[in-house]
Amino acid sequence: EVDRLSDLEKLQVLGNGNSGTVYKVRQKRTLQTYALKVIHGDCDTTVRRQIFREMEILRRTDSPYVVRCHGIFEKPSGDIAMVLEYMDSGTLDNLLHTIGTFSESSLANISRQVLNGLNYLHSHKIVHRDIKPSNLLVNSKMEVKIADFGVSKIMCRTLDPCDSYVGTCAYMSPERFDPDTYGANYNGYAGDIWSLGLTLVELYVGHFPFSPPGQKPDWASLMCAICFGEPPSLQESSASVEFRDFIQCCLQKESSKRWTVLQLLSHPFVTQDR
Ligand code: ATP
Ligand code: MG
Repeated sequence: EVDRLSDLEKLQVLGNGNSGTVYKVRQKRTLQTYALKVIHGDCDTTVRRQIFREMEILRRTDSPYVVRCHGIFEKPSGDIAMVLEYMDSGTLDNLLHTIGTFSESSLANISRQVLNGLNYLHSHKIVHRDIKPSNLLVNSKMEVKIADFGVSKIMCRTLDPCDSYVGTCAYMSPERFDPDTYGANYNGYAGDIWSLGLTLVELYVGHFPFSPPGQKPDWASLMCAICFGEPPSLQESSASVEFRDFIQCCLQKESSKRWTVLQLLSHPFVTQDR
């Protein structure tokens, strides 16, 4: 556990997200490396207090498939600093851009680990709401862990989620835009499965599935594509039958038809040894 921010020294910037900056840091006393995420809290004190309280929930999560939180601090400036487990291979988004697209067998391995993480969260009644390649972190042991859960849910109250649409809305499921049409028994869990399906397609084909390579659609056409278009699929690709079917189970537009985490954990795509 990290009990004082002053015990950490900053080594380098790891990246910038919509909500703040992430640094690689080292605890002076133990020489242990962590990631420090600093979220700029420019909202008023009461809202910030609430965010801070809810973030305490993150500290209680304990799963090998979820990035661990070793401390949360409120700085005098109002910024919130979270000490996180350091994942030395970065995000799946980073890897997609540096190494390129992923093979089916690595995607099966990734799927299994993310599903285990989602199973942990969902069984603790936590909806992640922001599953996407940049929130799935990897280390050199080839472990894949879910990061940033709950943060987006908590942040949504203070930020318009669509202000920073690419960060927050692009992976959102049809029922989050249009619960009347796609959200029979809407409870939010199925939204994480949609986002996982989109993420896997992106890692396989190399670009965000709702837009051509190298192009970012505007917010309105993206929402139209998600709600009125066919869901992305791998039917025309060289993917195996199992992988194509797995994607189809994740990307059902009607949330009640989508498979649950537990169903997907026994899908041949993830149970098969390759
Ligand atoms: P968002 O604000 O929507 O979450 P994001 O996921 O791109 O967007 P951050 O979560 O702030 O942004 O992360 C920014 C970058 O910091 C990531 O792309 C990753 O490279 C790095 N990073 C974040 N957390 C860790 C971690 N625990 N270990 C190692 N690197 C990390
Ligand atoms: Mg993130």
